[in-house]
Amino acid sequence: MDLTDWLRKEHRLLIGGQWVPSVSGQTFAAENPATGEPIAHVAAADAADVDKAVQAARQALHSGRWSGYTPTERSRFLFKLADLIEANQTELAALESLDNGKAITHASFVDLPMVIDMFRYMAGWCSKIEGRTIPISAPFAPGARFHAYTRKEPTGVVGLIIPWNFPLLMAAWKLAPALAAGCTVILKPAEQTPLTALRLGELIIEAGFPEGVVNILTGFGETAGEALVNHPGVNKIAFTGSTCVGKQIVTAAATDLKKLSLELGGKSANIILEDADVEAAIVGAANGIFFNQGQTCTAGSRLYVQRKHFDRVVDGIAKVVANLPIGPGNQPDTFIGPLVSEAQMNRVLEYIEAGKTAGARCVFGGKRHGNVGYFVEPTLFVDVQPGMSILEEEIFGPVVCAIPFDTEEEVIALANSSCYGLAAGIWTRDISRAHSMASRLEAGTVWINCYNICDSAMPFGGYKQSGWGREMGMEAIELYMETKSVCILL
Ligand code: ADP
Repeated sequence: MDLTDWLRKEHRLLIGGQWVPSVSGQTFAAENPATGEPIAHVAAADAADVDKAVQAARQALHSGRWSGYTPTERSRFLFKLADLIEANQTELAALESLDNGKAITHASFVDLPMVIDMFRYMAGWCSKIEGRTIPISAPFAPGARFHAYTRKEPTGVVGLIIPWNFPLLMAAWKLAPALAAGCTVILKPAEQTPLTALRLGELIIEAGFPEGVVNILTGFGETAGEALVNHPGVNKIAFTGSTCVGKQIVTAAATDLKKLSLELGGKSANIILEDADVEAAIVGAANGIFFNQGQTCTAGSRLYVQRKHFDRVVDGIAKVVANLPIGPGNQPDTFIGPLVSEAQMNRVLEYIEAGKTAGARCVFGGKRHGNVGYFVEPTLFVDVQPGMSILEEEIFGPVVCAIPFDTEEEVIALANSSCYGLAAGIWTRDISRAHSMASRLEAGTVWINCYNICDSAMPFGGYKQSGWGREMGMEAIELYMETKSVCILL
């Protein structure tokens, strides 16, 4: 595929196996965040398109076109799709880097391998979904004997609403388990990054998925997204995005009590203890926050350092950052790319200003980089006090607050003081201490002597306001299944 030609073509919606224009005929531009220039125009779906896509997905569900396949047959489709993604890995990584701004090396060596692995991992689950037989006592029916068992059934039609920070990977995290479980889906990529989902749609057709099983609607949150959440024909919404929108979705879903799984914001604590391998911790802490320009829900944005090493760690991170090349994502040596959009850049810059105004000290960074594209310098604050927005709120940009602490008790309390609970990091050579602290941190993932390690097999999700449910691993399959009990009088 020639990327330039592909970008130029008319990008439509995937509904019922066909590429169709939006009912309204409206389109919107996808933009290169390194330059602010439009790179493609895509269809803008709204409620009318959502209705068509839901009908197609319901028809595919009821016809048994997907759930009627044997588990082995379903897994073959997922393996085939993984193979096709692998065969097109280079162009997909280039497209992701162009649309989102992320470094091409990260798109190529992190996002795409994880996408492929996710489809293969979930392909394996198709044939491992089982119910149980249950010995029941039925104390109200003495002498009667029953045979009881559970069936695992697909939840039905699922709306997958995904964010812009890892567009293809977030699509894979939801699509792969939903399809493995036998659901039919409507995928809505974020309006900032619609392109890889559309290319994925082409590969889904090439893989031979039956029509209507996967529908893809590009469009805005307040139109397409809201219509999907409000549609009575949708059984469940799986959402990844901001906590604010997550709460709106919870409220909207209350109307018909749609099932929900939510992967929301974070303000994760990365803790460096005095017995840590400090040099490794410095590199880990820098990566933990600045990878993907800090646009990672697990970003280690609160860095707690035991006092003895505080200055060394801050200096060390400054040195690491000085060597991280900033530039357009498609340049091979770029580590820090632009933020995804002008709005996101402005949001992050506002947080930085609020931090300065509140009296925090900016050790490095603290401003926009250049005046073309949406680049923000990696930024580190010290002298941060409780109550400052840079410490309490999710910034979703390359901004870290470094805070010294004295005791383990103190740092556990500080780490747990957030309303979020997505992830945490601990750097120590004391393995007992590491396990003991891991059990006390209120976070869905705790990394010890590493950071931002995710895997298709390892459940991922949040405590507290970071979300509901766990993606990946066996838990992800559960998100897309209903359990039915069947009871027979013998
Ligand atoms: P961000 O604020 O970082 O852009 P959002 O949480 O707004 O992230 O967006 C994540 C996804 O949710 C996107 O696909 C977006 O279009 C969608 N979205 C935004 N608002 C709504 C809404 N009210 N209902 C449903 N989906 C929405």
